[in-house]
Amino acid sequence: MKNIVILTGAGISAESGISTFRDANGLWRNHRIEEVASPIAWQNNRALVLEFYNIRRKQLFEVEPNAAHRALATLEKHFAVNVITQNVDDLHERAGSTSVIHLHGELKKARSTRDPNLIYSLDSWELKEGDVCGLGSQLRPHIVWFGEEVPEIGKAVEIVSQADALIVVGTSLRVYPAAGLLAYASHQCPVWLIDPAASPEYSLPNLTVVRKSATEGVPELVAQLLAITIK
Ligand code: NAD
Repeated sequence: MKNIVILTGAGISAESGISTFRDANGLWRNHRIEEVASPIAWQNNRALVLEFYNIRRKQLFEVEPNAAHRALATLEKHFAVNVITQNVDDLHERAGSTSVIHLHGELKKARSTRDPNLIYSLDSWELKEGDVCGLGSQLRPHIVWFGEEVPEIGKAVEIVSQADALIVVGTSLRVYPAAGLLAYASHQCPVWLIDPAASPEYSLPNLTVVRKSATEGVPELVAQLLAITIK
């Protein structure tokens, strides 16, 4: 086993204190998430969209990676590891993972509304109306909104198709195209799904479902994989 691919969703960060969307029934201040995380919302109510992400960014500056993020990072000592995450937080990087693809963007970055290649790291939690890129255009959150393309999906498909093992953590596997990535794993590739509410109808030839929280299930699996390698 050489290449380990890790696919994570909001559940891996839940025990760090970042709530998943479904915890709040998909609502934020009585707005459906889709109504604040979309190009239409940005067009119609920019202040609301900026506030929604500012609150999330502020929270991100106050939380830490948990035992699951840290355990996954230790795999890099023995395997080639690629993390593909649906999360917009930076907890994998802060735990020590060095190859992380953010399918849905990154909360601590902003980008130009004129040139999408102009991407800036944010040192503070607040992004305001009037904050502009080098070309003078308003900055927007560097987030893939509902209805927008997922630019990194092609790279993610390639990485999953070369996996010798796939570890999936804390995702409802309801948000596409990320959820479709599992189908690109080879038939020989063992797949572990760690999620306390993993759907019973999900089936793959080599799937092991671990209905445990991320901080319990991930360190256990990592210890097993390391034990096999070290023997
Ligand atoms: P989701 O909300 O659809 O599903 C979260 C999953 O996490 C559920 O299946 C739930 O059972 C599981 N879960 C909850 N607590 C857990 C724990 N302690 N350990 C392990 N699993 C746990 O999230 P999703 O599948 O990632 O997709 C929804 C979208 O939400 C994504 O697009 C993502 O970008 C976005 N999101 C990201 C963050 C973040 O960056 N941390 C937070 C909320 C939402």
